[in-house]
Amino acid sequence: MDSQSKILVTGAGGFIGGHLVARLLEMGVPSVRCVDIKPESQWQQEHRRCENLVLDLRDAGACSRACHGIEIIFNLASDMGGIGFIESHKADCMRNVLINSNLIQAAVDVEAERYFFASSACVYPDYRQRAEQVGGLKEQDAYPAMPEDGYGWEKLFSERLCHHFHQDHGLETRVGRFHNVYGPKGSWNDGREKAPAAICRKIAEAQLDGSDSIEIWGDGSQVRSFLNVEDCVDAILWLTASDCAEPLNIGSEERITVRELVSVIEDIAEYPVDINFKKDAPVGVNARSSDNSRISRILGWEPSVDLWTGLEATYIWVREELIKQRSGQRSFAELPVDHRLRLVGSEDSVALAG
Ligand code: NAD
Repeated sequence: MDSQSKILVTGAGGFIGGHLVARLLEMGVPSVRCVDIKPESQWQQEHRRCENLVLDLRDAGACSRACHGIEIIFNLASDMGGIGFIESHKADCMRNVLINSNLIQAAVDVEAERYFFASSACVYPDYRQRAEQVGGLKEQDAYPAMPEDGYGWEKLFSERLCHHFHQDHGLETRVGRFHNVYGPKGSWNDGREKAPAAICRKIAEAQLDGSDSIEIWGDGSQVRSFLNVEDCVDAILWLTASDCAEPLNIGSEERITVRELVSVIEDIAEYPVDINFKKDAPVGVNARSSDNSRISRILGWEPSVDLWTGLEATYIWVREELIKQRSGQRSFAELPVDHRLRLVGSEDSVALAG
């Protein structure tokens, strides 16, 4: 892959796709073809120097159009979200198979050099993610298969598509299994947000409203690991440039409970809260984290952004988005002073923000 390669990023209007496009431009790629189903006004990041197309990639014709003249494909398009979304939209999640099967065929048709597929830790079976599980998930743990029902089955099937298109058609496929990627410029309030953004929003709302409690799904004991989006983008680029056609984990090994995650964000916000545990809400598996032995051996990659630094940037971004939303998108400085005071909570902050 060089800076002159003709590159397609699908899901470019979303969270990770948006950060990937931004990085490619920073690296000197003159333009990227960006595709998403959402209208451009709803893309998480603007991609001004790019060729931006709004297409539904479940359609084979749309995939041909997206891939025309392209050499390298990063496929991050997916109808997905946090546990609340994927538990209640299993059929929609499974229809992502149309994106992944039509796009990979279009990649073969244009003789693309490389095809990266964004898979998920949801391919791993529940029986490897029980409370007593102490270590991280290794790539071979995906089999015997019993992935998360719906979204996870579709991801595992699409991994197999990559494997067989590589074997039968010689397409250079690369598969990254993402584990809980977080950071600014992603879903935070549209029903698709994941735990880090949701908790940042709840604490920011509590702080702005002067409330002393937030609701958390489950009992807070679920174990997870969280990967910063900049580290995720590094790993996507390293993996795509490598010779490794087998799936690799792209995650963090740092295990943390949801209760501990709340504590870190409380400390960042300097705003302690009481927690109401909603125990009948969907929580997913008991314990999930990545084992990075294989990716670190093959690519020499490991995460570099520590959780505090990454969450601090995420919290600041979510809080700013919330303030913007509450001010009805008007410029902050145009709001009456008493309204500004209510939103930011202190005269110092008003001075800084105004
Ligand atoms: P995201 O929802 O922000 O981005 C996905 C984008 O795909 C969205 O902008 C959406 O509009 C677009 N899309 C959906 N259906 C489409 C269609 N039919 N045609 C064209 N575009 C379509 O999600 P994300 O967090 O950026 O995830 C990117 C990829 O990584 C996805 O494949 C996701 O399954 C995978 N993944 C993400 C995580 C994570 O923690 N964020 C974890 C595991 C896997």
